[in-house]
Amino acid sequence: MWPDRVGVPAGRGPYSDRMLSSTPRTRHSRMKENGRTDPADLRAVLAAGRIAHLGVLVDGHPMVVPTVYGFDDERIYLHGSVASRSLTTGAEVCVTVTVFDGLVLARSVFEHGVNYRCAMIYGVPEWVRDDEAKRHGLRVLTEHVAPGQWDYARQPSRKELAATALLVLSLDEASVKVSDGPPDDGDSPDAALGLWAGRLPVVTTWGEPIPDPALPSGIAVPPHIAAREHTEI
Ligand SMILES: Cc1cc2nc3c(=O)[nH]c(=O)nc-3n(C[C@H](O)[C@H](O)[C@H](O)COP(=O)(O)OP(=O)(O)OC[C@H]3O[C@@H](n4cnc5c(N)ncnc54)[C@H](O)[C@@H]3O)c2cc1C
Repeated sequence: MWPDRVGVPAGRGPYSDRMLSSTPRTRHSRMKENGRTDPADLRAVLAAGRIAHLGVLVDGHPMVVPTVYGFDDERIYLHGSVASRSLTTGAEVCVTVTVFDGLVLARSVFEHGVNYRCAMIYGVPEWVRDDEAKRHGLRVLTEHVAPGQWDYARQPSRKELAATALLVLSLDEASVKVSDGPPDDGDSPDAALGLWAGRLPVVTTWGEPIPDPALPSGIAVPPHIAAREHTEI
């Protein structure tokens, strides 16, 4: 069952003053050199990502659910329908945020890889029940995905709030990995093959806003949306 308490665990002190946790499950074992321990790296991954994957056991079966999120220095927020099975287990979860930065194309297929920034956060989330805390979390989440939209759009009614589940998960137990280098086989015997090798970066940008066909004429794209066109996600 869900903890009754509303809010967030007391944590381990000011988040900015400490390194990321090193628990048995967050300790990197393979490709340790890609591991990061500075909380600033965790925040950077969360700031760059837009979609999280929520991994949770539902009735004993694993489910990994894509979902938007928001975050602050201490926690990550996820939301959805109160009827959503993945949000209502009350059990431990693993939330992953991945930013795909490009392909690493090596001489050998074996050395191919991807460049990425990735975070994994573990814990038992709490279900936020208090309306004000819920509004705050939903604002954080909305502003992460669509900055300026919380104040522009109509905000949730009490009925809508009641239909929305908001989960908050502490960032206390998290790991970060970043891979950003060239192929590893530049000084291997395969270099003599004379094949091209290198990186193929991925750049994701926002497109041109498409008005709702139901929109009456004369309603302009608001500046906070228009400003994002062709900018990097
Ligand atoms: C987009 C993308 C594609 C990838 N493709 C592949 C692939 O095809 N094959 C492959 O082997 N690996 C791939 N990886 C790397 C993969 O995510 C794992 O880091 C790697 O496989 C090591 O897994 P492991 O089980 O040995 O982790 P371990 O090193 O044993 O994991 C120990 C702990 O380190 C942390 N950790 C592990 N991986 C990550 C991560 N990516 N981000 C944050 N924390 C992490 C976790 O907390 C984990 O519990 C990919 C990563 C990304 C982001």
